[in-house]
Amino acid sequence: MAYLELNVLNNSQTPMAMGIDLGTTFSLAAVMRDGRPVILHPEGGSGSVPSVIHFPEHGPPAVGRAARDQALADPTHTVFSVKRYMGRGLADCEADRERLPYRVTETEHGVAQVDIRGKSYTPQELSALILMRVHDLGCRALGGDDVRRAVITVPAYFDDAQRQATRDAARLAGLELLRIINEPTAASLAYGLDQREDGIVAVYDLGGGTFDISILSIEDGVFRVLATAGDTRLGGDDFDALLVDLARRELAAELDEQALRDPAFLQGARLAAERCKRELSIHPQAELHISIPSSGVQWRRTVSRAEFDAWSAPLIERTLHCCAKALADAKLDAKAIDEVVLVGGSTRSPLVRSEVAKYFGRLPHTELNPDEVVALGAAIQGHILVGGTRDILLLDVTPLSLGVETMGGAISVLVPRNSTVPCSVTEGFTTYADNQTGIEFHVLQGERELAQDCRSLARFTLKGIPPMPAGMARVAVRFHLDADGVLTVKAREESTGATAEIEVQPTHGLTDAEVETMLRDSYAHAQEDFDKRRLADLRTELGVMLQATEKNLAVARAELDPESWAELETALEAARGAAESSDVLATQALRDGLERASTPLAALLMDSVAKSALRDRTLDEV
Ligand code: ADP
Ligand code: MG
Repeated sequence: MAYLELNVLNNSQTPMAMGIDLGTTFSLAAVMRDGRPVILHPEGGSGSVPSVIHFPEHGPPAVGRAARDQALADPTHTVFSVKRYMGRGLADCEADRERLPYRVTETEHGVAQVDIRGKSYTPQELSALILMRVHDLGCRALGGDDVRRAVITVPAYFDDAQRQATRDAARLAGLELLRIINEPTAASLAYGLDQREDGIVAVYDLGGGTFDISILSIEDGVFRVLATAGDTRLGGDDFDALLVDLARRELAAELDEQALRDPAFLQGARLAAERCKRELSIHPQAELHISIPSSGVQWRRTVSRAEFDAWSAPLIERTLHCCAKALADAKLDAKAIDEVVLVGGSTRSPLVRSEVAKYFGRLPHTELNPDEVVALGAAIQGHILVGGTRDILLLDVTPLSLGVETMGGAISVLVPRNSTVPCSVTEGFTTYADNQTGIEFHVLQGERELAQDCRSLARFTLKGIPPMPAGMARVAVRFHLDADGVLTVKAREESTGATAEIEVQPTHGLTDAEVETMLRDSYAHAQEDFDKRRLADLRTELGVMLQATEKNLAVARAELDPESWAELETALEAARGAAESSDVLATQALRDGLERASTPLAALLMDSVAKSALRDRTLDEV
């Protein structure tokens, strides 16, 4: 398998990290062992934990297989599909509510919650229960090692609230979350596609309840999401429903309407349908066997794959429409796709595989189990994050540059776009005006040259700078971007140690489409931006020079020879009028003129300025 060769070293000293695929219907965990990712199979089981929670009348909730088995006997106290409500309000899940046997309400803060047995649970709390179960089973499979560090995957389209809810769930579960990564990225990692220098990958993910198509680009081993599309109401459950409908149709003669709508019958039929569907992925025919002990229903029917394929074709057709949409959004043709990766248990269906292959005109990757690739990729990422090796490291990068606004409205970039995270950059800044005791920092994101064209992330003020001449204060500004993409900006005035800091999430509320637009704008405005930037910088330089010269006019007049003084006066006069000029060349000529004219003065002052600066510093330090 491709990924086996990728891991050149297995350092037994490297701490372990668990990769967790927190799925809508199934969740599972993997770790790196002996240089390759392996699924944690507890107790000889398949490893996948149904993302289902059952609340019994007494005692703690059951999670996973035991809970799913209860779904039949006690549907109203069995919760599934929690992932759909992560970071959502009630309005977002309206369409789901009537399909669910349990009650979904809303907290006073507008967050969806599930009411069961007189108690309310947020999706975060419910997901935490699933995570704890997956983690616990994973640790048992490892022989009792308590591996707390984890990488958790989320769909590429998850917005910030949904990602934050996932982080909260991890915290509630007592995990040390190293990073959240996108499911399609994880799957691509599992196939070692980050080893490609460049290319375009389509990740086709047909899971239990949702379909996602993601188009990723790889550049130097780094993945970027170009487009996503999908259907949040299309997945394996709908394939099961085809067989449930078949049963209901054919049973209509024997059972009345009410019996056909009985929750126990529906749950039983669903489980039977799913079993039959899985069989049909391997065999040309399978038996659909519904047995409901409580009502005595017993029913059998042989289903051929040809029949099932004919019923499923429209569902697959719908996924291909989404693929077309994603390709259109990415402005790509299906032919541009270099690799197709299949993810999700439903892609085990032979018809899905052949239709996808036909659509993209190439054979998709199927070497790894489609319901395991995401967890395997998360384990690889976790391994890298705890310091494990791999011949080419995969690192997340910042999609846009980060910096601060400087005098004149320009941006000074500290972390350039595509910098790998985590990273730290420190740069020195100084004051513009004399006796300036505070500096306001404006943290920006973007590729444009002027602050006004960038995205404003935050503002904060550093106070307590002792009065000093302009340019004498030494302020170190440190940008630290952690592995989760949280940016901490810290400013420190060196002489006093005064500090101020702020934390922001630069990608908060930023969609990939917006990143694209920001990049495209920066190309479109490159020349014009360059000129504006140049002008802003020149004006600032001119301003600094003007200030410095004017402060020393008395000295200049007294000590300069008449010719130098006259030249300086002319240059100053011209420069004063330039503040509003928008002509780059003219401003540059004025700056050069003032610089030349003030050289004799600068020479005169150099000694005394240096001395007074020293004196200031000594006084401060006393
Ligand atoms: P999730 O949506 O949580 O990511 P998975 O990727 O594990 O879930 O997909 C679960 C879906 O895959 C279920 O609907 C399940 O019935 C389906 N599935 C699993 N195995 C097969 C199979 N052999 N053939 C067809 N569908 C399958
Ligand atoms: Mg999945």
